[in-house]
Amino acid sequence: MKIIALGSPGVGKGTYATEIVKRYNILHISTGQIFRDNIKAATDLGKKAKSYIDAGKLVPDEVTIEMVKDRLKQEDCKNGFLLDGFPRTIPQANALATFSDIDMVINFKADHEIIIQRLSGRRICRKCGTTFHIVNIKTKIEGVCDVCGGETYQRDDDKPESIKERLKVYEQQTSPLIGYYQEKGLLREITINEDFGASKESIMARIFNLIDAN
Ligand code: ADP
Ligand code: ZN
Repeated sequence: MKIIALGSPGVGKGTYATEIVKRYNILHISTGQIFRDNIKAATDLGKKAKSYIDAGKLVPDEVTIEMVKDRLKQEDCKNGFLLDGFPRTIPQANALATFSDIDMVINFKADHEIIIQRLSGRRICRKCGTTFHIVNIKTKIEGVCDVCGGETYQRDDDKPESIKERLKVYEQQTSPLIGYYQEKGLLREITINEDFGASKESIMARIFNLIDAN
């Protein structure tokens, strides 16, 4: 199974993606996380990407497309994958169509105020990348990852100025993908305004139903 998770920054798609890949035993490919790992390891790719990411801009298409194309060639993608954060532009979607067949695109939606609240309270683990939230998905010990014990932190691009820019970039460059995949008959939509911490089971049941109905 090959799935694309679409949706505004802060909608929670990374959190849902983590649960989806466990259930269907497919690979979670988060382009944002790959970039962050490369920045941490100070690779050439990381150096290229950092200034764009910190400013809330998109990394240039050529760089991102090459990276995803290489990643999807690897053996561990054979069983299927979920793309989280790619494609984010029409040129990326056109490129993807030349090297992969996608089964479905899930557009995750939430109300605007909820998106802002999710983004501004988000914390992620420095070591394993798991996402938490200071109100909605608290760690058992403040500042410590429940999964691996690593330190959690707020991403630079989750600070207010970058958040504004990312939402603008999403509206301009990524939201056209909704119509793009609708025309291809691949689009499925789901609105999730509930608190994941309190309603995890019912939220995930709705998402799994949507996928199983495909
Ligand atoms: P979110 O979905 O919360 O915005 P991500 O972790 O998916 O966060 O992405 C963080 C940043 O990484 C983006 O703001 C962007 O700069 C860069 N990035 C991730 N995926 C892409 C992509 N497909 N194309 C260009 N830039 C990307
Ligand atoms: Zn961790």
